[in-house]
Amino acid sequence: MRFDLHVHTTLSSCSILPLADILRHARSRGLDGVCITDHDTMDARHSVREGIQDDGLCVLFGMEYATLAGDFLLFGPFEGLPTGLPAPQLLGVVEQAGGVAIAAHPFRSARPAEPYVVREGLCKAVEVINGRNSELENLRVSTWRRRHKLTECGGSDAHTLDELGRVTTCFNVPVRCRQELILALQNSQCRAEWNPAVCPPGRQSG
Ligand SMILES: [Zn+2]
Ligand SMILES: [Zn+2]
Repeated sequence: MRFDLHVHTTLSSCSILPLADILRHARSRGLDGVCITDHDTMDARHSVREGIQDDGLCVLFGMEYATLAGDFLLFGPFEGLPTGLPAPQLLGVVEQAGGVAIAAHPFRSARPAEPYVVREGLCKAVEVINGRNSELENLRVSTWRRRHKLTECGGSDAHTLDELGRVTTCFNVPVRCRQELILALQNSQCRAEWNPAVCPPGRQSG
């Protein structure tokens, strides 16, 4: 199953991508699922029912959480999570709650991930391809992932409709709800891939 794990709606002030457009266009862009990961909020859940939609698209909610040690995509029961927690405390909460944290674009020049978060095993998954990264930034993540044996995933980081679904995470198990997503990520049953339906070879860089 092909998911875009990293998508922002207009609830993120930096995004011009309405939730309605995501729901309307995801299937035709080759996606089986979309994770809505707005900055520090899961409020999109008030606008659409989580799970499989009438057209077969699986819509799941997470968030992108900013810390001084980098940004993390979080999936779990985090609807009421306060913002601004330091990374070690945040990642402890995620672990305790049975959720999962993914280091998002760890080599971006703005707020890169601090190496200790993976070195100390606080975060076990990494966004190995991000649709907004440069080729070099994606390449550096691959090396980092292999060294620390991290679970790999990918996402478009879409803030516009044009970007939706460019980079995806392919799961080799069914993912039909948030809990199945979390389990599949914890068990590394996935890989990151440019989406051939949107990004044929030759157009695969940020
Ligand atoms: Zn943003
Ligand atoms: Zn993002």
